[in-house]
Amino acid sequence: MLARLGYAGIVIEGKPKKDDLYKIFINKDGVKILPDNSLRGLGNYAVVEKMKGEFGDKIACISIGTAGEMKLAASSIAFTDMELRPTRHAGRGGSGAVMGSKGVKVIVLDDTGMKMREPKDKAKFRDANKIFTEGLRSHGVTGKALPAFGTNVLTNIINEAGGYPAYNFKEGRFAGASKISGETEAALETERGGLATHGCHRGCVILCSGVYNDKDGNYLTKQPEYETVWANGGNCGIDDMDKIAMMDFLYDDFGLDTIEMGNSIAVAMDAGLLKFGDADGAINLIKEVGKGTPLGRILGNGAAVTGKVFGVERVPVVKGQAMPAYDPRAVKGIGVTYATSTMGADHTAGYATTANILKVGGYVDPLKPEGQIELSRNLQIATAAIDSTGMCLFIAFAVLDQPETFQALIDMLNAFYGLNLTADDVTALGKDILKKERAFNLKAGLSREQDRLPDYFKTELVGPHNVKFDVSDEDLDKVMNW
Ligand code: SF4
Repeated sequence: MLARLGYAGIVIEGKPKKDDLYKIFINKDGVKILPDNSLRGLGNYAVVEKMKGEFGDKIACISIGTAGEMKLAASSIAFTDMELRPTRHAGRGGSGAVMGSKGVKVIVLDDTGMKMREPKDKAKFRDANKIFTEGLRSHGVTGKALPAFGTNVLTNIINEAGGYPAYNFKEGRFAGASKISGETEAALETERGGLATHGCHRGCVILCSGVYNDKDGNYLTKQPEYETVWANGGNCGIDDMDKIAMMDFLYDDFGLDTIEMGNSIAVAMDAGLLKFGDADGAINLIKEVGKGTPLGRILGNGAAVTGKVFGVERVPVVKGQAMPAYDPRAVKGIGVTYATSTMGADHTAGYATTANILKVGGYVDPLKPEGQIELSRNLQIATAAIDSTGMCLFIAFAVLDQPETFQALIDMLNAFYGLNLTADDVTALGKDILKKERAFNLKAGLSREQDRLPDYFKTELVGPHNVKFDVSDEDLDKVMNW
């Protein structure tokens, strides 16, 4: 919608002098910034309902919940899906707090009267798009596994590989995994009249998402992702899919990063605040965050803050950001990415699970330190470039595995914009982005000393493989030396 309206992005500079909340409305006639304090304290679902009442249902919303208003470090920015539900989130990095600091509660887009943008070379674009789409549909991950079971197809795979962090990263396998796997989730969705295959937006051909109904067949939330199910499931010792789906709904409504929050709760469990496996206790803690009680604000500021406040030493964070769903000791390539990614522990920045576990784009033994630096480096470069196209990152499975799909992506960009990009240009673009990100970090006071995992990953063995993180600091410092 934003692209149809003619914008590549929205930049909001400065912040209001007073404490008012604002909504921003963008349509074919331009941009309006309007004060609206009636939005204060609303969850994302209520905000969207209010905007529908005001602007009709041909809109899309970008909003923050109460967590963003409170400027919590785990707050997210929500984006509506095709059903106008606030279920897609810019989850990581506390982006909701940035929007909240500017007093912007919601941005409403209405692209009525705007046309699809036209490629510079229509015929070339159509041909490249056809090859690209066929590439996505024929690849085992993007054409079969993701549409059928969603990202949660990974639960059984990563658990089997011994890289599934359970009980706040104490074990590499979770006994309850099959109860919360993608296969179980998809079966429940179908049985209850939800959807096991569904897209975020009208242009997606992978359709890795879904709709999760409760026991009575009523909408509860969108299909909880692998990361969400893991962080709030296995990592907290919880194996109840319905309770995890309820947590997912609450996170979407309050506007919270599910990975950070699952880690906060697991750290709180380690501190003895509640027992591992206590799903109702975890739901109550999430409600505390939404309400903004002192305990809620501690948890909502993420795992690092929670660990400090409760005196927990085993806190799985890098640069203050909590780790996602792969134990870095048993999936060492992703460990290198966690350590060296500019935004802290981030799996998407260089998803080495591909070659470590899925055998997509080659194979590098996940349990050995050899080859992980190069794997993570190359993926971080490719990911920075793919992210900058605005494509969903899941295209990467097919793009990195099938040369003709990669070429089709470049051909599409060239045909659309009238460019002559080559594969080398794409690599150069990725490197340039990473360089700029690192320069930003340096100015922000983050240097190579922060490109490290917490010490206990280097000393504590994790089962079932009984491995530790043994990629040397010296090697970690070589990731960005290409
Ligand atoms: S493949 Fe990407 S765009 Fe499509 S449904 Fe999944 S996350 Fe959304």
